[in-house]
Amino acid sequence: MKSTPLTKADRELVLAARGALRADMNPRRHGVGCAIRGESGRVYVGVNVEACGYGPCAEPIALGSAIAAGERRFESVVAVVPRGKGAEVLSPCGNCRQLFLDYAPDAWIIVRDGKREFKARAKDLLPAAYRSGFAVKAGNRAGRNGK
Ligand SMILES: [Zn+2]
Repeated sequence: MKSTPLTKADRELVLAARGALRADMNPRRHGVGCAIRGESGRVYVGVNVEACGYGPCAEPIALGSAIAAGERRFESVVAVVPRGKGAEVLSPCGNCRQLFLDYAPDAWIIVRDGKREFKARAKDLLPAAYRSGFAVKAGNRAGRNGK
């Protein structure tokens, strides 16, 4: 997998994801924040939503928020967990890797491997992946019917 060092803009996205986790939230229910930068440059955030039996990750919450706001192409994504007043990058789970492969195969996903943080294209984070009927082709938009 090709990995790329983080830029200042990537670090700003990490802070935005951390900012999604507010002090008055129950950390047992909302312990992960996500930020997605759309092609427009706007940033959308989400938090995970733990519940009995099912708890969506922060990534689909942020992606849905971006899509609801009209964003169709995505530049970069990061999820974090709080560490003191800062944040630690959290690599996306397998479900979320499939989500971004389907919706934003060219997006940069910021990940962690041990202590190293870097970014890789969504399409490179799930080798030999399942190709769903929901997938947009690389370079296409996540709009109506994936076109
Ligand atoms: Zn996930």
